[in-house]
Order: sequence, then C-alpha cells, then structure tokens
Amino acid sequence: MAPEEKKGLTENLIDKFRSVFSPQDPQQKKNALPPKAHFSIWYFLIVFMLFSLFQQYFLARKVETIPYSQFKQYLANGQVSKVTIDPESIVGTLIGKDKKPGQQFITFRVEDPDLVKDLGQHKVSYSGKYESKFLSSVLSWVIPLAIFFIIWRFAMKKMGPGMGVMSFSKSKAKLFAQNETKVTFADVAGIDEAKEELQEVVEFLSHPDKFQKLGGRIPKGVLLVGPPGTGKTLLAKAVAGEAKVPFFSISGSEFVEMFVGVGAARVRDLFSQATRQAPCIIFIDELDALGKARGINVMGGHDEQEQTLNQLLVEMDGFETNKGVIIMAATNRPEILDPALLRPGRFDRQVLVDRPDINGREAILKIHAKNVLLGPDVDLRKVAGRTPGFVGADLANLINEAALLAARKNKEVVEAADLDEAIDRVIAGLQKKTRVMNPKEKEIVAFHESGHAIVAESVEHADPVHKISIIPRGIGALGYTQQQPTEDRYLMTRSELLDRLAVLLGGRVAEELVFGEISTGAQNDLQRATEIARSMVAEYGMSDRLGLVTYERPRQAMFLPENYSPAKSYSEEKAAQIDEEVALLVEETHKRVHGILASRRKVLEELAGLVSKEEMVQGEELRKMLEKSPVESQSQA
Ligand code: ADP
Ligand code: MG
Ligand code: ZN
Repeated sequence: MAPEEKKGLTENLIDKFRSVFSPQDPQQKKNALPPKAHFSIWYFLIVFMLFSLFQQYFLARKVETIPYSQFKQYLANGQVSKVTIDPESIVGTLIGKDKKPGQQFITFRVEDPDLVKDLGQHKVSYSGKYESKFLSSVLSWVIPLAIFFIIWRFAMKKMGPGMGVMSFSKSKAKLFAQNETKVTFADVAGIDEAKEELQEVVEFLSHPDKFQKLGGRIPKGVLLVGPPGTGKTLLAKAVAGEAKVPFFSISGSEFVEMFVGVGAARVRDLFSQATRQAPCIIFIDELDALGKARGINVMGGHDEQEQTLNQLLVEMDGFETNKGVIIMAATNRPEILDPALLRPGRFDRQVLVDRPDINGREAILKIHAKNVLLGPDVDLRKVAGRTPGFVGADLANLINEAALLAARKNKEVVEAADLDEAIDRVIAGLQKKTRVMNPKEKEIVAFHESGHAIVAESVEHADPVHKISIIPRGIGALGYTQQQPTEDRYLMTRSELLDRLAVLLGGRVAEELVFGEISTGAQNDLQRATEIARSMVAEYGMSDRLGLVTYERPRQAMFLPENYSPAKSYSEEKAAQIDEEVALLVEETHKRVHGILASRRKVLEELAGLVSKEEMVQGEELRKMLEKSPVESQSQA
C-alpha cells in the first residue's frame, strides 16, 4: 500500500498544494525556509479561500438581491418586517403572501432622504450597522504580501544560492577547470597565423618557470581582433586547453548594466581570484563594451564604465607577468578602444583573427562535419569555394542547417543537395548584413586588386606586393587603412609619392580597361589619391607652377573634428590653381597607369583569374607571372 493512502484527505490536499506551489526536492527544502513557516501561510490561504467560497455559495443563496425600486414597493405594501442599514446596502426580511415569510433580501442604497420617514411610517424596525473594516484591511495587506513573498521565493530560487543582494560584487567569472575547456588548437582551423602567434603564449603558460629563468619578456595582454564569428572566443579557450591552465572568462557587456562601483569591484575580484590560480588565462570577451574610449560620453564626468575601465588599467599595471597570468581579450571594434588599453604593458600584443580563405574554410568545414554523416557526393572543397566571406561561425551554422534539412527529409546522410540548399539559406541571411559577394562582384574585385598589384610591381618606388586577397575583409581591413600619407610625409620623395599615387589608381584603371566601366569600389582609393596629390601640391611644394610655398598648415591637434578645415591663408585664385594642379597630377598619373596596365593586359587577366579562384595569391606568384610574359608594346592611349 502506498504511504499516501494512509493520510487523511486534508493532509493529502495540503501536500498537493505544497508540491504545486513549492516544487522543490526535499534536499533543497532544508536550506530554504523552515517547513512550518510556509505550511501555515498556505494553510491560512486555503482556509480563507474555502471560507469565501462558502460565503458565496451557501450564505448568499438565501439572500435575494432586488432593485431599490422594488424595495420601495415592498415597503409601500407593508411587506417588510425589519431592515438593517449600512452605508452601502440595506438588508431586510420580508413578510408577505406571495413570498415565503422570512425571505431575506438585499438592495443597494441610492440617495433617498425619505427612507427613514417611509420606514417609520410603515412601522418597520430598522437599525444601522457599522461594518468592521478590520478583516478587509488585514486581508488587503496580507494578500499582496503573500504574492510578493511568492515572487521573492521564486526569484531567489532562480538566482541560485549565494546570489543575494549582498553578493552582487562577487565575480561572475566562470572558472572552467582544464578538463572542461577541452578545446584545443585542433578544433580551430583557418586562422593559422593567429594560432602561430599564440603558440608562444601556450608555451609560456605551460612552462612559466623556464621563461622566468631566462627573463624573457612575456606579453601581458593579448588582444584578438577580428570580425564576429571568426573564432576569437574559441581560440582563447583553445590556448587555455593547449596549455592546460584554468580559464577565467568574463564578457565586457556584463559590466555594462551594473550599479555604480560594482563593475570596478568585479574587476578587482576577478584579478585576485586569477592570481591565486596562476598560471591561468583571464579572458575578457567583447572588450569594446567595457573599454570604449573615455570622453566619448557626452555627459562628461566619471561614469560607471569609466570607473570599470580605470580599474582594469590599474589591475593590468599592478601585476607581474612572470606570475603566469595572461590577459586575453577579444574585440571586433578595435578602433573605438581607449588608447590607454593598447599601451605597452597592457594589450600591447594584437593578433588579427581574419576571415578564412578557401583552404581555411575547407578545414573548418571538415572540423564541423566530423559529427555529421556525409554522403559520397559531398565535396567540402566545393562547398568552401561557394562560400567566400563566410566566417567559422557561418560555416558551423551551414553544416548544422544542412543536417537539419537532411533530417527533415528523412535522409540517412547529408547530401550535396542539402549543403547547397543550406548555403543558399545562410547566404540569404548574410546578404542582409552585406558580408558576401556575388560572383560578378567577385570578378570585379579580382581585377581591381590585380590592377593595384601589377602597378605596384611595375613602378620603381613602390613596396613589393606581399599578397593579393579578395576575401571580404570588412572590419579586418582596418589594420591597413592606417597607411595614411600624413604619417611619413617628410620621408618620401616626389617620385615615391607619384608611384604611390599610381598604385592607388591601378585598381580603378584595371576596371576601366576590362569592363569599360567603373564601380564604386574605388572610392576610397580615389580619396586617398586625391589627398596625396593635394599634399604634394599644397604642402610639400612639389608642383613647379605653384613653387616652393606651403599653402596649408599641417593638420593640428587630434581633438579637432575630422572635417575641420583651418582658415585658408591664401586667396581664392590660388585655391583654384591648387585644384587645377591636383587634377593635373592625378590625370597624368592616370595616363601612366593606363599605359602600364594596357601593356600588361595578359598578366592582368591571368592574375585576376587566379585571384578569383584562389581568393589569395602570394606576391611571389605574381612576380613569376610577370617574368614569364614580356611587356606588350602598346600605343599609349
Ligand atoms: P567570435 O568570438 O570571433 O565571435 P566564436 O569563437 O564565438 O567567434 O565562434 C563561434 C563558433 O563558430 C565557434 O564556437 C565554432 O563552433 C565556430 N567557429 C568559429 N571560428 C572557427 C574556426 N576558426 N574553426 C572552427 N570553428 C570555428
Ligand atoms: Mg566571441
Ligand atoms: Zn582599390
């Protein structure tokens, strides 16, 4: 016999209620409230509910609710024996022929100054009544309190133990014991350069004593920079996994919605926890959320984010690397980081985690396809070829989509058709974010980049080409746009600047030559070309016509708005001459570049073909191509 059946009915009922309203296992109950306390509250509530039900259904049945007019009617007919009047209603008893004697009624009061007079006239005994407000006012307190109590219990359970109001500042940094981050470098593909750079960190973390003896300088902070989904978080975990050290991770965005002072306290906490566990890795994901440049805040003053950032800087300065703690961080918006974060002794090592090329994508696909049964017709190389611009997360998503599609069709294995459909789906999603190129765009970009590269190899003073890539870079390209002519302007000769101008125009001229029309892709090139030409004419005195006069002051302080132009110190006439000279310089260079590329048309086609197939071509290969094919003599047009 089951034990419950021995209990009485009420006990059973209460048990049920208790299990419905506080579904906990008995283990937890012990460290929650004492059982008696919440038993009596439930008991009270149940009794109250039963009581009100009883009132409604048993007491109320005997009382008839009648309109006031009818009451007056009964009164006029002398059918009322006695009434009790309270501020809202009148309860009375009838004596009548049609109604059985003793029938009770209730009517709601309306404003009636004649009531007492009428009652007296018909000799009805009447009495007033003061209704005690005690019960209702107690209830109006108890019920909200009970509800509040339930919600509070519920919230506490959600938060889990040790997360009361007092412990908000406790670091939420999750500690993954080394056997938990089973991620190793084998799980990361397509970003080999980044992996290589981090190898040193792994080495240091696994043998900190060796490095200490030699006194080598270990990076304190490593910043992983790259577009979303390229595997930055994964890579950081893999470093911990490879070195078999604990991994403390916290996300910058977690700091954002905190009370004043809490963020800073957490940072302190995190660092003191980590130093006790050294060697280990502290990983701050989404550093940009926390490390936005100070002073961007329009309201000014010390805000919470600033305090947290300051604390981070203090902590980073405060400990020695040879204790074996390495701070890693990830961001996809390095440009908004506070410069103080990037100073020596802080995140002075930066590792670019870029979008993978075709080989990288194939390798990533292989990793994620490990847990999926692939059909014999699947060629992951082909899939990689169809997905330029995809990052690791997109490729993982792609495999997953394909597996789902296959499962929906009750297939045994994932077939090429499923992968194709999945690619289309993922691309459709990504195109909204404009991250992938269609084949036509890809071809145009291939010719454009080839144009730059061939001109760079053909003119005398340009730096040699390292590699040509058409992997859509988006944010990853930021590292390269820093090559502004302003940085090293006093070091360059006129012919060097002219050649630089030529390289910049190479992309656009290639498009002109091959497609007979131009795309918007050259806009940035033209802007930079114009800047160079303008500087040559107006700042460096490199134009014969205008002579050795500087017409523009060097751009001054950094804090001026970007488009701020200082007051001109020269006449409108001179300004027009400057513009003419700039245009002339660009026009002449354009002609020169046109000549170069026209005479190299064959190499241009060949290179562009290779680039659009491989997405990345090393400079060496281009130089070989150029050696093989002689310069075609072409009339300069
Ligand atoms: P990020 O932090 O750069 O935004 P994540 O590390 O969070 O990117 O990547 C998300 C997921 O995408 C990873 O968990 C992994 O499954 C997959 N992924 C991303 N990059 C790679 C890669 N290079 N190799 C293998 N898988 C990757
Ligand atoms: Mg991430
Ligand atoms: Zn270009």
